[in-house]
Amino acid sequence: MRILITNDDGIHAAGLHALAKNLQEIAEVTIVAPEREQSAAGHAVTLHKPLRMKPAEIKGFQGTAYASNGTPADCVILGCLAQPSRPDLVVAGINRGANLGEEILYSGTVSAAMEAALQGLPAFAISAASYTANDYEPAAQFARKLARVVANAALGDDCFLNVNVPAIPREQITGIRFTRLGKRAYINKVEQREDLRGQTYYWLSGNPKETDSGEGTDIAAVAAGQISITPMHFDLTSHELLDNLSALVEELRDW
Ligand code: MN
Repeated sequence: MRILITNDDGIHAAGLHALAKNLQEIAEVTIVAPEREQSAAGHAVTLHKPLRMKPAEIKGFQGTAYASNGTPADCVILGCLAQPSRPDLVVAGINRGANLGEEILYSGTVSAAMEAALQGLPAFAISAASYTANDYEPAAQFARKLARVVANAALGDDCFLNVNVPAIPREQITGIRFTRLGKRAYINKVEQREDLRGQTYYWLSGNPKETDSGEGTDIAAVAAGQISITPMHFDLTSHELLDNLSALVEELRDW
């Protein structure tokens, strides 16, 4: 099995290294990761400048690693199309911090897994659900097991998995749940400040505001100490609204 790994925290991130060292025990692993942090880069791709892949050394990792000046989605494209052979599986992470609810729309980690699905490959994104996580071993061990299972399971076209692992010792993790996305708005604050030349500048920030953390959500599972696995696809069509709105065609007819 050939596994391509990327992330959005960058080639030097501890979560990436823990993942790579665990996955190299079961597969031939190639890393293509951003040369610096690209958290919240979303699904951006680079079309207006050349992309580079520089060989990188990671202590304890025996596979091939490259640092790229591209985004996480670029890294997946490079790893699939600029390599002699296509991977069998793409794993993005282990992200520092959860990717729950609407956060996934901004996440470079989740977008990398989505790009892999667009490239027709099985994929999952995996996150340690704390920004202060320093032990990625439980998430990395789970990724090793999940990689084997996902590689042999038909996820279906255009589908991938979003995994969040509580940032607690392995023996405290209480189970594994398949979940739906909750609601957790994150970017909800703009700080306006003044620089030393008197010019205004802004910092975007926020605190997670959970509006749906109910039964069955990714948020509830992680809060209960469980590993959350959300099956994802990128059809953003609201099928419910599509049915409801069809009647409006009559009203719009006389434009
Ligand atoms: Mn990140």
